[in-house]
Amino acid sequence: MPKGRIGELPPRYSFMLNPYAEVRLSKCPKCQKDTHLRKFALLIHIEGWGAMALGKTCRYCSRCEMIMVHQDELEAKLAQSFSQIAPEVIGNEYMVLGTIEKKVWQEGLQGRGKQLAAMLQHVADFKNVYDLKYEPGRWYPANEGPKKA
Ligand SMILES: [Zn+2]
Repeated sequence: MPKGRIGELPPRYSFMLNPYAEVRLSKCPKCQKDTHLRKFALLIHIEGWGAMALGKTCRYCSRCEMIMVHQDELEAKLAQSFSQIAPEVIGNEYMVLGTIEKKVWQEGLQGRGKQLAAMLQHVADFKNVYDLKYEPGRWYPANEGPKKA
């Protein structure tokens, strides 16, 4: 697992991985305001593979600058991405590290891609990573504190 900061941009956004398929996060668990859908380019580290960029529509709270990802959707998307190129890594441990500037990620898609080292100039680590704790009738974020830099 990578240690320290990965991206060269200042840390940006908070991140929450939602493991509960029944919790759809139409409201932000932190501030209770409505969330909306926004597409982000996520940098994900996968054991046995390394870093990859994945475009994913996420729940987003603009007030908290928090990106919320449904774990089931993310894993389905990862499995789909790897089913052709490296099916053996499907199911491996992974970690969402940060976001990539969307413009750079889109250029990559069009075959004008930069190598990973160059791409990291356009990556921002998350400021905070939250766990979602859920009890029936009540759910709230548990702050794990800032990621160790
Ligand atoms: Zn919020």
